[in-house]
Amino acid sequence: MVYLDNNATTPLDPSVAEKMAEFLREHFGNPSSLYPIGRAVREIVNNARETIAKALGASRSEIFFTGSGTESDNFAMRGVLNANPEKKHIIISDIEHPAVLRTANYLETKGIEVSYVPVDQYGMIDLDFLSDAVTPQTALVSIMHANNELGTIQPIEEVSKISREQGVLVHTDAVQSFGKISVNVKDLDVDLLSISGHKIYGPKGIGALYIRKGTKISPLIYGGGQEREMRAGTENTIGIVGLGEAVRVMKERWNEDKKQVEKLADKLKKNIEGKIPKVKLNGHETKRIKGTLNYAFPGLEAEAVLLALATKEIYVSTGSACSEDSEEVSHVLSAIGLKPEIARSSIRMSLGRFNTEEDIDVVLRELPEIVENLRKISALDIDEY
Ligand code: PLP
Repeated sequence: MVYLDNNATTPLDPSVAEKMAEFLREHFGNPSSLYPIGRAVREIVNNARETIAKALGASRSEIFFTGSGTESDNFAMRGVLNANPEKKHIIISDIEHPAVLRTANYLETKGIEVSYVPVDQYGMIDLDFLSDAVTPQTALVSIMHANNELGTIQPIEEVSKISREQGVLVHTDAVQSFGKISVNVKDLDVDLLSISGHKIYGPKGIGALYIRKGTKISPLIYGGGQEREMRAGTENTIGIVGLGEAVRVMKERWNEDKKQVEKLADKLKKNIEGKIPKVKLNGHETKRIKGTLNYAFPGLEAEAVLLALATKEIYVSTGSACSEDSEEVSHVLSAIGLKPEIARSSIRMSLGRFNTEEDIDVVLRELPEIVENLRKISALDIDEY
């Protein structure tokens, strides 16, 4: 199998699996219990919190565990609005993940005004639009760090500068950047930041939200006093252990992983562009997560390419995993101005820690032939593009 869909989810790192199995076997205590078996788990949870905090440049008390990246995004947006009811305006970008986009759509139905920052043809946000849109009445600006479909990296430092001048809080969804590029809450100067376990070789169903000390925010889930009264519910201890270990391994392998993914992505990119006529990279040439390669193959339906690759056990994606079963054209590809037929011809390949040179060779052997054969039988005229 050649797995090139690491932006959808990543395989569990063996060391994470081992740590989780060991924890499952040895611990069952409730971290809120005051006797030793509870205290031991409390300490394990807090060690994971410390590891994550350090990796983000935060302090331990600023990290709150959640059930997913999606919950972290909901918590940030709805939590800030609930705590600041006098402010009825938020700003997001046109290419946010549905976790932010649909939350904003929901908030609109509750009387919140939402401004959508447009992006250029490379998926970079329009900072002038943002400057004009943000006012002291804005409750929150939420712009993703790296886009899941294109890999485009947004200038979050600039977003924070512009927002801070108006005294407005900033959230960034760093689910796709954490683990791939440096993510430091001090450098980015954000108030809130979301991460997710299963994008960094950790388990699914665990995420975290960084909340800068002193940020006015309400809980999303009420109940017991877990997570310092901010997120009720007995902690997902096994998920937390997995996330902590995933972050530890990430730091340990940082240079090695980065070098390897970049080397393989460069090879894949150079050869796709060299061997396949009329391919077009969607996204930014340089300000991009290197391992995310989204290409349009004019004249083809991406679904046909995906299925042909799948018969060879090569797994890629046609858009964000969450919209895979939808007939609609990706809102991200529309936002960068692609015609619907070009958007529908686009394939995303996302590389990760466990890809090898051999994987890339297999793709470069199969893909050009698949594209050529499908184009031969395509009713669409590629010379038109
Ligand atoms: N935000 C981005 C940018 C994502 O890519 C994803 C997952 O695809 C999410 C949020 C949602 O994370 P989770 O699957 O943990 O809910």
